[in-house]
Amino acid sequence: MTDVQVETGLLAGDQRMLIDGELQHTASGALFDVVHPGSEQVVGQATDGTVADMERAVGAARRAFDETDWSHNVEFRYHCLTQLYEALVRNKERIRRIVVTEVGCPVSMTGSQVDSPIEEVKHWAEYGRAFNYLEDTGVHETVMGQARHLIHYDPVGVVGAITPWNVPFYLNIAETVAPLMAGNTVVLKPAQWTPWSGTELGRIVAEETDIPAGVFNVVVSNANEVGAALSADPRVDMITFTGSTATGRAILAAGAPTVKKALMELGGKSAHIVCDDADFTACLPMAAMMACAMSGQSCILPSRILLPRSRYEEGLAILAATMENIPMGDPWQEGIMQGPQISETQRNKVLGLIRSGIDSGARVIIGGGTPENLPTGYYVQPTLLADVDPDSQVAQEEIFGPVLCVIPYDTDEDAIAIANNSIYGLSGEVSSADNDRALRIAQRLRTGSVTVNSKSFFGITSPFGGTKQSGLGRRNGDFGFKEYLEMKTIGQPV
Ligand code: ADP
Repeated sequence: MTDVQVETGLLAGDQRMLIDGELQHTASGALFDVVHPGSEQVVGQATDGTVADMERAVGAARRAFDETDWSHNVEFRYHCLTQLYEALVRNKERIRRIVVTEVGCPVSMTGSQVDSPIEEVKHWAEYGRAFNYLEDTGVHETVMGQARHLIHYDPVGVVGAITPWNVPFYLNIAETVAPLMAGNTVVLKPAQWTPWSGTELGRIVAEETDIPAGVFNVVVSNANEVGAALSADPRVDMITFTGSTATGRAILAAGAPTVKKALMELGGKSAHIVCDDADFTACLPMAAMMACAMSGQSCILPSRILLPRSRYEEGLAILAATMENIPMGDPWQEGIMQGPQISETQRNKVLGLIRSGIDSGARVIIGGGTPENLPTGYYVQPTLLADVDPDSQVAQEEIFGPVLCVIPYDTDEDAIAIANNSIYGLSGEVSSADNDRALRIAQRLRTGSVTVNSKSFFGITSPFGGTKQSGLGRRNGDFGFKEYLEMKTIGQPV
C-alpha cells in the first residue's frame, strides 16, 4: 500500500470507448449498468459497444500498424509511454476509487491493483527503449556455406487484449503496455463487470498523451460476442487474454483459422504443500489471509492446502483461528481485508461449489455461507473445508471465492502427486524448515511458478504464466517482452 492519502467514496468512470483516437458512445446510445458489489447499487453506466464498433477499432489498429511509424519508432514510443506513466500518476487516486467502486476490492488492498501496474508502465517504457531489436548472433554454418546471422525483433502486429474483472486495471496495463512498447497496436476489450478501468485508460491516452489515433483502442460492451469478434477477426495477429480456461479455449478456437499467436493466462487450482517440519505459525496464517484477500478472486492463490497427517489438526486449528478473524465488510472502511464477490452470479457459483464439497464428504470448519451481518453486498464467509477428497469437484474446479480446501497427505511423494492432480498448473507453494527439501518439491510441481517459504515468485522481471490448461506463454521478464515480438533471422555475408 502507498503512503499517500487515499481518497474514498464511490466514483463512476468514463462511459466512452476509445476508437481511432475518438472518445465515443456506440451509435445507438445504448448503455449498460455498472454495479458496486459492496452495496449492490448501480453507480453509473458504460457505453454498450457492438460488433460493428469492434470492427472499426480493429480497422483503426490495423491502419495504425501498417501506415504509421509506430511499429519502428522506438524513441517516439518511449516518449508516449513516459507521458502515459506521468498521466497515470496524476490520475492515480481517481483510478483507485474507480477500481474499488467497480471491483469491490478493499481500498487498503489496492496497491497491487493500482500502484504497481502504474510503475510497470515506466518499467516497460525503459525496457523497450533499451532493448536490442537487432541482435548479431555471429557466424553460422548453413547449407550454402558460412553466413552471419542477425535476429531482428519485429512487433507481431495488431494485438487484441481481452481482460477479466478481478484485477482489471492491473491486467489492462499488463496486457497492453508491453505490447505497445514492443511496437504493436492494440485493441483492449475489458470485462463487462469492470468497464471503467478500461474506459479511464482510454480517456487518459486520448487526453493526456501523444499516442496516435488507432494505436490504442478500448471497446467496452456487455456482450461476450464483442470479445468473440475480436478473437476471430482476420486483421488481428495476436490475442492476449486473462480469464477462465473455458473462455480461453473459445478464443483459441476462434483464432485458429487465421493461426493467431496467443498468450493465455487461464484458471488455476494451486496447491500449498506444507511439510511436516514447517513453521506452521509462520506459514498458515499468511495462507489463510491470502485466501480471503481479494475475496479469493485471484487465479494464483493456493486454494488447496496440503497438510501432513501427523500435524493435521494442529494445522487446521491455526487456519481456522485466522479465518475466523478476517476483517470483512465495506471496501471503503479502513483495515478491511475481504470485500464482496464481484456479482450475485459469482457468489452463487462459490456457494454452489462449497455445497458440492460438503456433499462429497468435506467437513466445514469455518464459514460455508453468507455473513448475517452483511445482508447487502455479495459477501461470502471465509470458508475452511477439511478432509476434502482430492478428486472431488471442489478440489478440482477453480472456485474464485474465499474458500480453502484442506487435504491430508502422508509422504512428500503423496503431496507432490496430489498437487499435480489437476488440469491446471499456474502456481504453487511449498513451506518447509529445510529450504533444499522445499526446492526439491518445488522442482517436481508441474506449474508455471512456485513460492517457497513465503518468497513470492511474482515480479515484473521474472516470467509468469501457466502450464497444462492454465495457459500458454509467459508475461513479464525478457521472455514476456519477446512474446509480443516475432524473431526474423537475417543471413548476410560474413
Ligand atoms: P469469468 O472469469 O467470469 O468466467 P471470462 O473468463 O469468461 O470470465 O471473461 C474474461 C473476459 O473474456 C471478459 O472480458 C469477457 O467479456 C471475455 N469473453 C467472454 N466470452 C468470450 C468469448 N467467447 N470470446 C472472447 N472473449 C470473451
